[in-house]
Amino acid sequence: MAIPFHSVLRARRPRVLLVEDDPELARLVELALEELDAELAVATSAEQAFEDCARTPFDLLLIDCGLPGVSGLELGRALLQDRAEPAPALVYITASTDPGLEARCWEAGAVDFVPKPLQLHTLARRVGAHLRLKIQTDLLRELAFKDPLTQLPNRRYLFERIESELGRSRRLDAPLSLLMIDIDRFKAYNDHYGHVAGDECLQRIAAALRAAALRPSDLVARIGGEEFAALLPDTPAGNARTVGERMRQAVLGLDLPHAPGCGLDRVSVSIGIATVDLGRGEDLRGWINRTDACLYRAKELGRNRVCVAPA
Ligand code: GH3
Ligand code: MG
Ligand code: MG
Ligand code: MG
Repeated sequence: MAIPFHSVLRARRPRVLLVEDDPELARLVELALEELDAELAVATSAEQAFEDCARTPFDLLLIDCGLPGVSGLELGRALLQDRAEPAPALVYITASTDPGLEARCWEAGAVDFVPKPLQLHTLARRVGAHLRLKIQTDLLRELAFKDPLTQLPNRRYLFERIESELGRSRRLDAPLSLLMIDIDRFKAYNDHYGHVAGDECLQRIAAALRAAALRPSDLVARIGGEEFAALLPDTPAGNARTVGERMRQAVLGLDLPHAPGCGLDRVSVSIGIATVDLGRGEDLRGWINRTDACLYRAKELGRNRVCVAPA
């Protein structure tokens, strides 16, 4: 028996957008896809499809190639470019017997196309197969790259991004800064309030750090028990210090009373910052060591502070 999508761990119902200008055909496709138990939206024009996609992240786009006005091919390509990750699966419905069209469907980023006249059962099975793959891929990405406690990206994701951002910085000669963030005297907090309260504290700090990183390209990750990191592309040391200070203040602003007797009134973080020195050929290990050394210095100087590596 097929496993329904939404029972695969906590996977949600898949969302499909059908872009079809012929209402009769749209109705037929709707009926055919009923067996998939997906949420189906229907757009009758390219404009409506853009609006729908801006509102909802779809798992699969099912687009009629023969739309009036903007071609289905252009629409699919544009919608894939528009979308944030993870991109939806793109499937075309085509009436044309032009063999060149098939090639153009693949080039537009399609994972499949279904010819007219539609075999409705086949259409449903093919859409179902692509949906299942898409949902499973999303789920695996989430399991591999997300920290379940804080919902932040994890260490593995951070290091993937560091690799690609280092490449980008080399190509564009753009500054790239790394922040290592560690909660102060967190062992005392756990010992005093217990681990459940400790976990809640971690969640609140994660949210505060995340909110203090303002650019969409900024990455905040949980890299260990009570350790976080932020990767800031296109950010020189001075600006990274500003972000680090904002993070430190944001955590203090949570106003969480610390364990009595630990030497700190409120929960705080210490932050070490270094901007990678590509000019002197610094490698990843050297850069992380310099960042770590700054964090260590922030701790030594009394905690609840930001230390930036000298240029
Ligand atoms: P410092 O200011 O030097 O960083 O002191 P610290 O006590 O924060 O440092 P230490 O590394 O000795 O202790 C970290 C503590 O963080 C150990 C543990 O009690 C707590 N911790 C680590 N991971 C978790 C977690 O996932 N949940 C909870 N509740 N606590 C955690
Ligand atoms: Mg630590
Ligand atoms: Mg520690
Ligand atoms: Mg600590």
